[in-house]
Amino acid sequence: MSSIIQLLPDHVANQIAAGEVVQRPASVVKELLENAVDAKATDIKLIIKDAGKALVQVIDNGQGMNVTDARLCFERHATSKIRKAEDLFSLHTKGFRGEALASIAAIAHVEMKTKQDQEELGTQIIIEGSKFVSQEVAVLPKGTSFAVKNLFFNIPARRNFLKSDTVEYRHIIDEFQRVALAHPNIYFTFFHNGSEMFNLPPSSIRQRIVAVFSGKTNEKLVPVQEETEIVTIQGFACKPEFAKKSRGEQFFFVNDRFIKSGYLHHAIMAAYDGLLKDGAQPSYFLYLTVPPNTIDINIHPTKTEIKFDDEHALYAILRASVKHSLGQFNVAPVLDFDR
Ligand code: ADP
Ligand code: MG
Repeated sequence: MSSIIQLLPDHVANQIAAGEVVQRPASVVKELLENAVDAKATDIKLIIKDAGKALVQVIDNGQGMNVTDARLCFERHATSKIRKAEDLFSLHTKGFRGEALASIAAIAHVEMKTKQDQEELGTQIIIEGSKFVSQEVAVLPKGTSFAVKNLFFNIPARRNFLKSDTVEYRHIIDEFQRVALAHPNIYFTFFHNGSEMFNLPPSSIRQRIVAVFSGKTNEKLVPVQEETEIVTIQGFACKPEFAKKSRGEQFFFVNDRFIKSGYLHHAIMAAYDGLLKDGAQPSYFLYLTVPPNTIDINIHPTKTEIKFDDEHALYAILRASVKHSLGQFNVAPVLDFDR
């Protein structure tokens, strides 16, 4: 009896998974930057060409990979970050799905160079459309470089679906800013078509925000600080008179990860109640630290939405602490605290 069900070959499964993980060049930027952060890099360089359509490269000075892992990292569900299901509830890394590199390698030309500190020599691998093209021993600096070229070269429909360079570049800036704001202690540089767009030395949260968004931001910020059993909050909200017409710089970070939450945004708007002109949007940069076992990050592949155990309490605490800071801003001195 012949059966009609078959297991898909790996390269096909990878291409399908890639559809979820990699929507556009900015998705590659996000995954590579997060891997560099997870590798404990203190210096991360992002280099792109033609809004990432021709090249996305991330160079880090992190822990690197040995020759075996250098090859394994391109396998699906290959990760060094979790080992068992329970680990999902004590996550200290950005990644854990082990899907990004397999997905990216399925739909682009990837050149990777990596070396661990203690090793004499490093490994250089070229993989194109899930096929290993070459693997060589090479003299390399400590750390890892991923160069991703010709994204969607084998999926013309996807490639044609990409937006103009201006739009794709904007998406990349968004991802870069999110990671750079989440990690003010890491040195980030960003080059587009050979020009330096950002140069962000390690700094305090306030200095990082100002470096990312311009010096004028500084006077607009009111510090927010709160410590309770379920959450520690630090960061800044802008003075009501600087609120914008369009939804501008609004950032939540939970355990150093950028997240989107309409519900928590509502808590902030409630804190500004009565202080804003109709439709005005305040900027805010709020860093929440919660016990890892009280959140579920595993609800979406791109991990920008998470589920909190006690969303209602979080809402109330956020609203109260932002409201308190806004009430104080004209009497309290503006503090510059380091994380
Ligand atoms: P995940 O991040 O979910 O583990 P990825 O596909 O992004 O999955 O990466 C697979 C593995 O490759 C990681 O778990 C890590 O061990 C290794 N890796 C990826 N990028 C780097 C890097 N820049 N430096 C060192 N190791 C890396
Ligand atoms: Mg990853």
